Amino acid sequence: MAYPWTIPVLAYHRIGEPKGDHVPTVSPETFETQLAFLRRHGYRVAEFGEIVDGIARATPLERRTVAITFDDGYEETCSVAAPILHRFGFQATVFVTPTEIGLPGFMTWDQLRAVAKNGIRVGSHTLHHTYLPLASRDQAQRELVESKYLLEQQLGEPVSWLSYPVGGFTPELQAMARAAGYQAACTTNRGVSKTSKDLFAIRRIKMTERDRSPFLLWIKLSGYYDLFRRLERPA
Ligand SMILES: [Zn+2]
Repeated sequence: MAYPWTIPVLAYHRIGEPKGDHVPTVSPETFETQLAFLRRHGYRVAEFGEIVDGIARATPLERRTVAITFDDGYEETCSVAAPILHRFGFQATVFVTPTEIGLPGFMTWDQLRAVAKNGIRVGSHTLHHTYLPLASRDQAQRELVESKYLLEQQLGEPVSWLSYPVGGFTPELQAMARAAGYQAACTTNRGVSKTSKDLFAIRRIKMTERDRSPFLLWIKLSGYYDLFRRLERPA
């Protein structure tokens, strides 16, 4: 059964002041504007697991449901984003790369454990942030299995969700992720499909600093975003 509407899963990277690097960054002010939009328009911020369960059981969620995710595990996820989320009472999921934890600019294990205790769920973003479609089968297997294992060891809780680095996956990788014990995996917003109903290709909406106006946010959160993308870039 298909969903009658799309449940938006928002994808963020770094929340903070722009550093002039390639990391997609949303300023704290814009992030607050976006969260305030969700609250004002009566959106319920669901745990990512609810979206997963809804897809798995083909149970439609209420219309104004949304989930918030972060990729990469930047230090600002702990120092900037988490306090803002906390103030709004919104939960989120962060997909982290274990080999980057503790590197300059990234959360430490202590910070990750602290946010995990405070309403943020943790998923895997592979072991080395590897673009999986170009990795050997053995390497891809390691990326999926060892990242999950390491995170579970450090956090003391199951890690059931995956975010493919740069959104890259193949049908074979989807099967490998399932076999590695993940329950779901998300990609970036690529391609156009009406609904997210594939548990191992959950599409997300990339949030940017430009998304400040109520009109743009409404476009992004409604299904119309896909239509606009399609008009912009004919297949
Ligand atoms: Zn990433």
